[in-house]
This record gives sequence, structure tokens and C-alpha cells, in this order.
Amino acid sequence: SYVLKQVALNDAAVAKVLEGSIYKVDSDLNKKISLFIGDITTLEIDAVVNAANNSLRGGGGVDGAIHKAAGGMLYQECQSLNGCDTGDAKITGGYYLPARYIIHTVGPTGEKPAMLESCYRRALQTAIENNIRTVAFPCISTGVYGYPNESAVKVVLPIIRTMLEANRDKFDRIIFCLFLSVDINLYHKLLPVFFPLQ
Ligand code: ADP
Repeated sequence: SYVLKQVALNDAAVAKVLEGSIYKVDSDLNKKISLFIGDITTLEIDAVVNAANNSLRGGGGVDGAIHKAAGGMLYQECQSLNGCDTGDAKITGGYYLPARYIIHTVGPTGEKPAMLESCYRRALQTAIENNIRTVAFPCISTGVYGYPNESAVKVVLPIIRTMLEANRDKFDRIIFCLFLSVDINLYHKLLPVFFPLQ
């Protein structure tokens, strides 16, 4: 995982991966990765991840969309959770969402790679603990919280690969839910680096 982190945070290393093959082709893992472009609240899956704030009382962006679509019962359950630390995750029901659960995680403000990585790790650990096999992530912290989009993808893809490798039988599908063209372009460019097809 030392190598993965080096690759994730350094452009020269990413270029080297593109030439060589630090990330090996693994078709079992590749089958479990999907991109979805659009509104995360429409996904009928086990769990959607929310880019929440420390209070868990709703906010703007994807958080606002999730609370609006899930309804007031979500707000009530969130109020009982005593907030959530940055980099941690807490689970609630999905209420009026088609997803069965919502995993709330709180991303860092600004570029803090260890914290962003922790969000994705804790979200997937929470999923495993609840027998959740299909999970969709929004682009955590890259909106109002200001994490630069490209550096975020270079943290997200290696930690997802690491978690999938370590938990092969636990997940059926991990979906990256993309909302902005900047992220669509970045994921198309960088997915083949971390999940090479050949
Ligand atoms: P943060 O505060 O963690 O930066 P934001 O909600 O501001 O969270 O942004 C995170 C990402 O979620 C951004 O790419 C934003 O465009 C995207 N987003 C906003 N609404 C939705 C939605 N309904 N479904 C999926 N992604 C969304």
C-alpha cells in the first residue's frame, strides 16, 4: 500500500504506471467498477454515500439532494447520531430513496489526502459491517469543500482498489456517481490507470 499511495499522490508516478504496470489487470475487480453520470438519489442499490458535514443535519450540494429526496425521517435519524468526525462514516436508513441505506461520511475541507482516503475506507468498512454489496460514491469534498478534482481522483481510485482487493467476496459493485463534466473526464482518463483492462 506504500506504493499505491506514492502513485496516488504524484503525477510522475501516475505517468510511470501508464507506461508500465504497477496495477495489474484483474478482471474480477474490473467487473465490479461502474461509472454512473447523474443524480445519486435515483440509484436503486444497497447504499449511497453522502458527502455530509460534521453536524449530519443536511446542507447543500449532494447532501441537500439526499435529504430532500429521503425526507424528514432521515433528518430525525441523523439528529440522533451525535454528528460525525471528518474522515469517519455513519449509516442510516434510506427512507424515500430507492437505496436501502445511506452511508454518511464527512470529507475534508481542502486537499487533505489522508482524510479523503479515510472517508472512502470507512464508508466501505461500514458497508461490509452491514452486508451492503452495492455502493455508490459521489465525488466527496470536490464541491463546496474545495478538494482539487484531479488530486481527489488519484486518492479515490487507489483506496477503492486496495479495499476491493482486500475484500473480494464482500462487494458486487462500486459505482462512481459523477455529476460534473470535469469529473467525467478525469475518471475516463484515470480509471484505466488503476483498473487496467489489458
Ligand atoms: P462537498 O461539500 O463534500 O464538497 P458537494 O455536495 O458540494 O460536497 O459536492 C460533491 C460532489 O457532488 C460535486 O461533484 C457535486 O457536483 C456533486 N453533486 C451535487 N449534487 C449531486 C447529486 N444529486 N448526485 C450526485 N452528485 C452530486
